[in-house]
Amino acid sequence: MNNPDHNQQTIERRGLMFVISSPSGAGKTSLAKRLLQGDDQISMSISMTTRPARPGEIEGQDYFFVDHLSFEAAIEAGDLLEWAEVFGNFYGTPKRHVEEQLKQGRDIMFDIDWQGTQALHEQVGHDLVRVFILPPSVAALEERLRGRGQDDDAVVKKRMSDAANQISHWAEYDYVIINDDLDVSYQELKNILFAERLKRERRIGLSSFVRTMIKEM
Ligand code: 5GP
Repeated sequence: MNNPDHNQQTIERRGLMFVISSPSGAGKTSLAKRLLQGDDQISMSISMTTRPARPGEIEGQDYFFVDHLSFEAAIEAGDLLEWAEVFGNFYGTPKRHVEEQLKQGRDIMFDIDWQGTQALHEQVGHDLVRVFILPPSVAALEERLRGRGQDDDAVVKKRMSDAANQISHWAEYDYVIINDDLDVSYQELKNILFAERLKRERRIGLSSFVRTMIKEM
């Protein structure tokens, strides 16, 4: 697999939390999938939920499935970075899993909405990189929603109004990609990730590297 840190291999870095948000239909899922498949240093965050597993879902891979009591205990113990109630079920981001990955210099991707992003931002600050994906136009968004062919008019209308709500939070993100062409957007997303990995404050091995270099001069 290609290694973006190729000649930086010896310099240890802290991982980052890569949030991708968008209205439904803007192409976020395809972009996230491509990034996960093409890069072995990033993996998807695994949430904890009280929702029962659906057929085919795997414990510890799709979610950590728990009962209400365990979820409440996790909130009480401060084990969750953020949590939310969605359609009567609870969902949250376990702190320990994220922290372990970051310490190992591995990145974690989050597919969450603006509310989850705000909550994460309050908790973790600089570890977070926030990317918002916009559709190129209203017409393109509507076409993509209809193109799925699964939803009737009422559902599409509801999605469009949810999309307007999501999009109104665009300015709370560090980067915005206008997804007109999936290949171009994928390249832009990779560029953001690779540049963020090179940020001085994440590269915890840099100071000893430079110290040694200066000593040898
Ligand atoms: P599902 O039950 O279909 O897997 O997910 C339902 C909803 O819960 C989705 O909108 C998803 O984004 C949201 N969700 C999943 N995990 C988390 C989480 O850890 N935190 C928050 N805030 N929402 C989540």
